[in-house]
Amino acid sequence: MPGTTSVEELIRKIPKTELHLHLEGAIPLETLYALIQKRGGDPSITTLEDLKRKLVYTDFAHFIELWIWKNTFIREERDFEDIAYQVLHHLSRQNVQYLEAFYSPGDYKPHGLTVEGITEYLIKGKERARQDFGIRCELIVDIVRGDGVDVGMQRLDETEPYLGKGVIGIGLGGSEHKYPADPYEPVYKEARRRGFRLTAHAGEAVGPSSIWAAIRKLGCERIGHGVRAHEDPDLVAYLKKHQIPLELCVVSNVRTRVCTSVESHPIRQYYDQGLMVTVNSDDPVMFDTTLTHEYKMLAQRLNFTVEELRQLTLNGVDASFLSEKGKESMKAQFEREWQQLLAKYT
Ligand SMILES: [Zn+2]
Repeated sequence: MPGTTSVEELIRKIPKTELHLHLEGAIPLETLYALIQKRGGDPSITTLEDLKRKLVYTDFAHFIELWIWKNTFIREERDFEDIAYQVLHHLSRQNVQYLEAFYSPGDYKPHGLTVEGITEYLIKGKERARQDFGIRCELIVDIVRGDGVDVGMQRLDETEPYLGKGVIGIGLGGSEHKYPADPYEPVYKEARRRGFRLTAHAGEAVGPSSIWAAIRKLGCERIGHGVRAHEDPDLVAYLKKHQIPLELCVVSNVRTRVCTSVESHPIRQYYDQGLMVTVNSDDPVMFDTTLTHEYKMLAQRLNFTVEELRQLTLNGVDASFLSEKGKESMKAQFEREWQQLLAKYT
């Protein structure tokens, strides 16, 4: 393993994908600060430092409170163009080359913003970022547990026109312990019929039963988090056999206290057991993390070797919703960059 400084630099430069990131939880501080000022300001926020402090997360209720507070400054559909552009700009500086990002358009309906308008501006922003920074992004529509099946179906109608034109799939978010996945089976069945790719948050706040429901009822191709899979050895065996990818977010799980520490996170165990593990950052600004930091934690605190980090970056391509051809060419590109980086840093 190379020296500490070069490990940090190497980790920042390694080619990456991001498969579990919420755009609204990734708005760079400067962008959010500018939005707050544009909307008349907030008396408690006069500097960027104030904003950084305000966003320090204490518990889940506080997280929801902050999420809602932050959303009050997003008042126009066109705000989403800059949000997408700035988020992608920041990610491209960590050599993230491809991401599949969640967005929650329903959250802005009370402010009169339409799902269609938000989606169109996000697509404009991400296309501009692709031209300027080369980073590619596909959107995953967040279906919210608790909003009900009718709203879920409505979300499919609203976003289907953008399928294949920027939107790639659906996810299931919201309160996992209050609202089991089972009632959303018809929404997922219909989404699959229409060509949406399928993932769902499961096995974060609730244990294996929730992951089984995501697989057996919803037919998910990937699991958002799935961190609590280890509580059921049969489930671990199933995930391994079918190589169902887990979108793991280590720092998020520590911040929300699903895990007590980075060291006690099961990612190391899952990797060693041969599960299809990917590395992601969830709501990086709100959890004070970055994708680079996630990989750094794996190297420094969970003893992942450089070769294992390389494998994890390739897993990120294999677990994506890209076509087989798209995956092959991205993996070839990643391999080329890895070879150059290893020649320089090791
Ligand atoms: Zn998430």
